[in-house]
Amino acid sequence: MQSSYNFWLVGISFVVATLASYTALDLTGRIFLLASARLRHAWRLGGAAALGVGIWSMHFVAMLAFSLPIPLGYDLATTTCSLGLAIGASYLALFVTTRERLTAAHLLAGGVLMGGGIAGMHYTGMAAMQMSPGIDYQPAWFAGSLAIAVGASTAALWMARALSNENAGHVVLKRLGAAFVMAVAISGMHYAGMAAAEIPLGAVCGAANGVNAPWLASSVILLTFAILIVTLILSRFDARTTFLVGAVSNLNGQIVRLATLDTLTGLPNRSTLTERIERAIQNSRRQRTVFAILFMDLDGFKTINDSLGHSAGDQVLTAFAQRLLQCVRSSDTVARLGGDEFVVLSENLSSREDAGTLAEGVLERMRNGAWGDSQPLQVMPSIGIALYPYDGDTVDELLKHADAAMYEAKRAGRSTYRFFEQSMNEAVTRTLQIQNALHDALAAGHFSLHFQPKFHGGNDALVGAEALIRLHHPELGSLAPLEFIPIAERSGQIVQIGYWVVREACRQIRLWVAQGLPSMKVAINLSPRQLMQPNLVANMLEIVEAEGVACDQIMFEITETVAMQDAPKTIEMIREFQASGFEIAIDDFGTGYSSLAYLQRFRVKQLKIDRFFTNGLDEHGPEGSAIVSAIIALAHSLEMDVVAEGVETETQLDMLKAMMCDEMQGFLLGKPLSADDFGDLLKTRIVAA
Ligand code: C2E
Ligand code: MG
Ligand code: MG
Repeated sequence: MQSSYNFWLVGISFVVATLASYTALDLTGRIFLLASARLRHAWRLGGAAALGVGIWSMHFVAMLAFSLPIPLGYDLATTTCSLGLAIGASYLALFVTTRERLTAAHLLAGGVLMGGGIAGMHYTGMAAMQMSPGIDYQPAWFAGSLAIAVGASTAALWMARALSNENAGHVVLKRLGAAFVMAVAISGMHYAGMAAAEIPLGAVCGAANGVNAPWLASSVILLTFAILIVTLILSRFDARTTFLVGAVSNLNGQIVRLATLDTLTGLPNRSTLTERIERAIQNSRRQRTVFAILFMDLDGFKTINDSLGHSAGDQVLTAFAQRLLQCVRSSDTVARLGGDEFVVLSENLSSREDAGTLAEGVLERMRNGAWGDSQPLQVMPSIGIALYPYDGDTVDELLKHADAAMYEAKRAGRSTYRFFEQSMNEAVTRTLQIQNALHDALAAGHFSLHFQPKFHGGNDALVGAEALIRLHHPELGSLAPLEFIPIAERSGQIVQIGYWVVREACRQIRLWVAQGLPSMKVAINLSPRQLMQPNLVANMLEIVEAEGVACDQIMFEITETVAMQDAPKTIEMIREFQASGFEIAIDDFGTGYSSLAYLQRFRVKQLKIDRFFTNGLDEHGPEGSAIVSAIIALAHSLEMDVVAEGVETETQLDMLKAMMCDEMQGFLLGKPLSADDFGDLLKTRIVAA
């Protein structure tokens, strides 16, 4: 029988197919992202209904576009059955494409089932016409339509999955393109199926009921569009809420992380650690077990931070955190308190020795471990250990005592560990007392200067003095600079103290001159914190000028270790001092691993050989003297004078003289003297001269 098509309806059926395909792709992308299984299930069901209606209506509208010279109609029950098949096939499609894992076998099985479903829908729909005699299907076209259905479905499933990533660029455009291809395939299947159908001449349609086909078509089309568009809008809306809910819970997570974890290393922070120690105290009290707190800070971290910059410092901290995690048991807590301070909480120890073994393990692995991180630096901690219940029964006390033990480990030469002992508490208390003493020492006049004479190596003449600060406290008694200078350095008080030293030294120089004594060159020590002051040189100059002393009467000493920390900056600083007329000496030379290249560029007036080497002249035999004579030769070749510090014996003095050492300083020749005593020494020298 001759058939014909209404091309308007054919076109519309194609648009319906495209919209249905787009909806399918859109849903796949969203369902895939939903976190809750219940939501995913609900959306698969709803989506399958909308999609099924879409595919079915494409087919139905295309059927309505088809006309025969006889009246046509569709049996309601069979048509409904074909709609059911379309919905079933759609559910299957969404189920397959929104699985978490999608293997090639899943994809193929999904394609076959879905293609079968669509073909089933098509041929059931055809059966709804109830033609008699029945429609003959040409086997080739029939097989072709099945192949198209299965092939197109498989391709569609694959595309849907591939396009499920919402974050990829141009996703809407890509989905539209894919929807178009899918619509071509669905329509292709339909028209291949129609081409397979041969309706015998004289056949009649058993379901013809005179319903107006265009009216039916418009209703179906409108309804389908409505369903698909509402589905799309709902899906967008739902995705937005899901997104918002996700964002809020994400944010919550971040806030919790910020409050409990250290942002740089991701380790628990101080408040989390406090909580865990509190819990450990409760557990240990109940179970009568021991736990340890290992307090550590990195040796020389400040130098790394100052010389290589903060981001390098951060990298070192992160690497150390990672390494530390690898050194402890998985049940231990590793936390960062801030700065370069880390704490390990190690519970359920059987004895005190366990904590020592743990600390040794950390030190050993930090020293020898090969690490996967890109940080080439070897970073070593000093570790202090406090044990519960022996060393305290509150979080604060345990942390404070572990910290005190850590300081002791540092004092003992770093990269080692110490258990807390009650005497360390006394050290902490003393530090606090000294801090307080320093607080009002300047105003109360507790500081004084001593002067240690320096002598000419050749003729024993008095050539100058080094000013050495002393602190006499009414309660603490006399304090050595080695004890209070580091504390003043840490608290920053050294800056004001340093200015006082210069003022006082100048005042003494003037006083001696006023007493008719020869004017002396005085060397003054500078500490690292002072060197960081931006206008140090200008301030020094102002003080010296105000005191009416010539700048060349003053020489500043910078220790080699400090000078080398930031050598280029030291060079700048030295030049600035020299430009103002001050002389510079490198103090404690030999202890700071000077690069010779820098030593040459420092171009300072004096090199002061550390007491350790002077001592070595007696104790280290020929090797000791070889080193000292090499240093002297080197300094002379760089046009520097050499001062030997800590000369204590005649043999040292003789050897130094033989090595052409320029100046001598030490207890043998003269101890540090009060200003008055130094004045007396000056007088005897005049008499002698
Ligand atoms: P330094 O600058 O190396 O000073 C030399 C230290 O060695 C002095 O110790 C001095 O008393 C000591 N000494 C001198 N000859 C001998 C000897 O023959 N044998 C022995 N065993 N020791 C000797 P002091 O006065 O205790 O000062 C220690 C350090 O404190 C100084 O080392 C210096 O770095 C620092 N210091 C002293 N006064 C000041 C100051 O006014 N400002 C700053 N920033 N630091 C200072
Ligand atoms: Mg000195
Ligand atoms: Mg020295």
